[in-house]
Amino acid sequence: MSPDAFLDSFDFSKDLSLYIHVPFCISKCDYCAFYSVPNHSYEILDAYTCKLISEIEAVNSRMEGRPYLTAFIGGGNPGCLGPKRLEMIVRAVCANGRPSEFSTEMNPESLSEDFFPLFGAYLTRLSMGVQSLDPTALAFLGRNADISQTRRGLELSQKLKLLSGCDLSYDLITCLGSWHDELSDVSGITCAYPSDHLSVYALTLEEGTPLCRRKPVLPDPDMQYEILKGIWDYLEQNGFEHYEVSNFARPGHRCVHNCRYWQYSQYLGLGPGAASPAFGKDGKVSRISINHSVIGYIAADILTGFDKEMLSSKEACEELVLMGLRYKGGLNLSRLEEYAGIKARQVLVPEILKTLVGFHLEGNFLVPDDEGLMTADAAAGTLLDWLY
Ligand code: SF4
Repeated sequence: MSPDAFLDSFDFSKDLSLYIHVPFCISKCDYCAFYSVPNHSYEILDAYTCKLISEIEAVNSRMEGRPYLTAFIGGGNPGCLGPKRLEMIVRAVCANGRPSEFSTEMNPESLSEDFFPLFGAYLTRLSMGVQSLDPTALAFLGRNADISQTRRGLELSQKLKLLSGCDLSYDLITCLGSWHDELSDVSGITCAYPSDHLSVYALTLEEGTPLCRRKPVLPDPDMQYEILKGIWDYLEQNGFEHYEVSNFARPGHRCVHNCRYWQYSQYLGLGPGAASPAFGKDGKVSRISINHSVIGYIAADILTGFDKEMLSSKEACEELVLMGLRYKGGLNLSRLEEYAGIKARQVLVPEILKTLVGFHLEGNFLVPDDEGLMTADAAAGTLLDWLY
């Protein structure tokens, strides 16, 4: 596959978001099955940065001078790059102007004041993988940062917000086991370290991870429901809007980039392990996956070595439904009609609303309420069974 084959998959006349995958971590967390490489050398980081910038410039050249709508640097832990390499990357992304929202992830132990000048100048949002303030939970999860490094990173993030005005988001993990007081962990973080946004995930055991091999006893589905419901209620009572299954925002602070995932909108992913939904000018939908190792990615020619899978209408419909029903923006019924070839509003919605609990019609969208968010995946299965 050539660079043009990659670039021609996207419709550059429409808004485009950019995702960059940084596949480096200081060490592997015990629960993590994402592709990332610990113990990388400076030479690898330099070579990765150079390669990535060449690819960003190739994509920029198709943007006709327009900035990306949003951009997101995720990981891994982008803090592993250090401030100089990260600055080179964010400058390349902003060559046509700064995206309206530009986020980077970073772990608490990696944040330092050396990164601060990048916020305000380029980046508008910091998303920090905190996970817990309970030292036992951090050890259980095999996190690299201990509690003092975690608190130090949180305090620095608060200072960064004061100085730059950037949005702050923290990631937390819950449902660890009966020994863990989930609600006091979450409330402890929200009280001590105010943020604009929180992502709260229930722990899942991924095959092949050290945590999975230890076979810990996690809460059963009923208990998990109780724990999540308690956290969701607490956050809503404390000024957060619950806008996606795992995501909460102060009013006006939703993550616009991630909303584009749930709206099943176009974004372009770069870096080993990145995947993108591409909506061609011909209306065809494809899934582009970059399946390189770090070394393979560095060695390959730019924008090559990717897989392109054309999606059938049914597959595109499945993705649209799975994303839309887990998001308070709702499932776009016009697009459902386009992919499924059915009169959704007249035929589907009246039927499906008799079965699905926790969903309602809002204009052209089928929207979950809090109960719907709790059962979003099952609801998507029901709807797709009905369609196909
Ligand atoms: S820091 Fe994030 S990506 Fe890296 S090992 Fe831990 S959970 Fe996985």
